[in-house]
Amino acid sequence: MGKVTEPGGALGLVDRPGNGQGGQTLERRLDRRLVLIVLAVALLASTLMSLLAVLLVLRLSGRDAARATTTLQRQLSVALTSYLPLYELRRRVQLTTSAGEADLAVVLDARRLVLAASDSALVGESLPGMLRRPESTPLRRLLEPCLRPGASAQCLEQPRLRFVGPIPLVGGAQVVAMRTFPLALESTRSFGPKATLLTVKDLEEYRNAAIQLTITFILAGLLPLLLSSGALLWLVRRQVLPELIAEAHTDELSGVYNRRAFREKAAALLDRAVPTRQEMVLALLDIDHFKSINDGYGHAAGDEVIRYVSAFLANALRRSDLVGRLGGDEFALLLVTDRSRAHALLERARQALEAAPLVIEHDHSVVIRLSVGLASASGIGSWELQPLLEAADAALYVAKDRGRNQVVDLEGLPPDSDWQVRVV
Ligand code: GH3
Ligand code: MG
Repeated sequence: MGKVTEPGGALGLVDRPGNGQGGQTLERRLDRRLVLIVLAVALLASTLMSLLAVLLVLRLSGRDAARATTTLQRQLSVALTSYLPLYELRRRVQLTTSAGEADLAVVLDARRLVLAASDSALVGESLPGMLRRPESTPLRRLLEPCLRPGASAQCLEQPRLRFVGPIPLVGGAQVVAMRTFPLALESTRSFGPKATLLTVKDLEEYRNAAIQLTITFILAGLLPLLLSSGALLWLVRRQVLPELIAEAHTDELSGVYNRRAFREKAAALLDRAVPTRQEMVLALLDIDHFKSINDGYGHAAGDEVIRYVSAFLANALRRSDLVGRLGGDEFALLLVTDRSRAHALLERARQALEAAPLVIEHDHSVVIRLSVGLASASGIGSWELQPLLEAADAALYVAKDRGRNQVVDLEGLPPDSDWQVRVV
């Protein structure tokens, strides 16, 4: 009999990338991905919501500011047409700035000379002279189209309202307006030629209100969004994810762990055993001549045998132990116990299974025999899953070679035995 020179080769137990050993478990991977997805969706939704809130607030604030300017102009127009003495008109125009309704108000007469202004230094200035002053910059921006060469004379008589500044809708800095009215002063005693009313209003107070409103909108929208995202996350993590994971971990035919899940769980269990050097035993089990059961009784009967053996093994183990189907008629067990106890338990299980044939379709009974190879962590000096699988596989190979229907522990063989474990 030859030595076992290719551990892991006999039953194809080679490590495959992505099998979970040493890497993240399926639970952790899914959980992380789920949290990231929910966070990304919540972030995207809240960004969109914030943008919409900002647009809405800017639009509302812009309308509000425009309405306030129109109202101010209407009020001043009353003064322009009420046969007031000129000094009274000037006083009222000045009052608009001290009351904070405008930052600059100017009345031009028909000759485009400043008749009244909130800044008394402007009175008597011509339109071009006034527009050259730094404080008139917003007015210059408003009247630009009318001051270009070739602009029609009526341009200056058209009502105009414009936001001046970098931010759209609210305008960012100021709202500037122009309107013409018939002028009726005390001295004229009749409606005279048209006067032009120009006003400039700083939007700072609107901007501050808009910022506050935006923050309120965002917070008010964010709360239900956070709550619903949190509830969704909780629901998926508590209910959907465990179901999906259980399904992904379960071998469909036998109901025990599938190959990937067994590897993940076993690697984690072994990791936990390292600090205390807890005795752990890994066993590989293979049904003897399973092919002949398939051939003799049909594939469905073979499936029934697999289910029967799985249930039998699951019943024979403690809750702390693991059982998985690696594929075909191969099973793996990870037992939290020492070699001799594991050997005894597996021997008892093998005998009990052999003594309880499975009855198929009332008249046929199938005797199920197992070959088992086991390896212990302390025996091979490693708590890593892969060397344990390879050592147990080598033992299983020996069990098959020695005539099947037996449990083999290579570490228990005498030193002069033909067989030995060689961990690579
Ligand atoms: P040995 O004693 O050396 O283990 O021989 P064996 O016949 O048990 O082993 P072998 O590997 O030659 O055959 C295993 C067979 O199991 C081959 C395959 O057709 C069959 N098989 C694999 N998966 C399933 C399954 O899910 N259901 C059934 N019924 N058969 C399966
Ligand atoms: Mg077999």
